[in-house]
Amino acid sequence: MLAVGVWIVRFGLIAQFCLFFLSGAQAATRNDIDDAIGQLVKAVPNMKLEVELTKTWNRAYVSDRIDGALLTMDPDFLSRLTPDGVLFVIAHEYAHVHLEHQKKLGAKAMELAGLPTPDMAFDAIEKNPATMEKLHAMNRQFELDADEAATKWLASLGVVACTEDVLRSIDGADMMMPVVPSHPGYYSRKQVICRK
Ligand SMILES: [Zn+2]
Repeated sequence: MLAVGVWIVRFGLIAQFCLFFLSGAQAATRNDIDDAIGQLVKAVPNMKLEVELTKTWNRAYVSDRIDGALLTMDPDFLSRLTPDGVLFVIAHEYAHVHLEHQKKLGAKAMELAGLPTPDMAFDAIEKNPATMEKLHAMNRQFELDADEAATKWLASLGVVACTEDVLRSIDGADMMMPVVPSHPGYYSRKQVICRK
C-alpha cells in the first residue's frame, strides 16, 4: 500500500511538472502584479496604483482617477507575460499617470476644439480627422515617453527592459491610452527601450 501511495505522489508531481512546462513555464499571476508594484515603489516615490483584472479589449490601460490611478488588465494578457514583462507593463502604464498624459491630452483637445471640457472636446474632434491626427501624434510621443520612463525605472531596479520577454509583451502594441486610440509601432518602441 505504501509503495502505491508513493507512486501516486510521484506521478502527481510528474504530472504537475508537465502541466507547468506545457503552460509556458512562467505564466504570470496576480502575485507577480503585487510583486511588481512592491518593486516599483522603490524606484517611483509616492507611486499609488490599484490593479483590476478583468476581460478587456485593450490588453491593459490606465485611468487617472481623483482617488488614485486604476490599471485595468486582461487576465489572458497577464497569463502570457513573464514576471519581468509584468514589471514593464505596470511601469509603462504608471508612467502615463506620473507624466500626466491623460490631463495633457485633455488640455490639448480643449485647446484644439475650443471647448471647455475634455469630453466635449474629444467628441467634437472625433468627427474631424485632421485635428484628430494632431492628438494621435501627441499620443504616439506619450507612448514612447512612457516606454522611456519605464525602461529607466527598471534599470534603477537592476532589471534590463531590452529582453525577449519584455519586447514580446509590447509586440502587437495595444497597450494604448484609452482616450485616443493611437500608438507608435513596435520598432520605434523597441528603439527607445533598447537604446544604450
Ligand atoms: Zn501606453
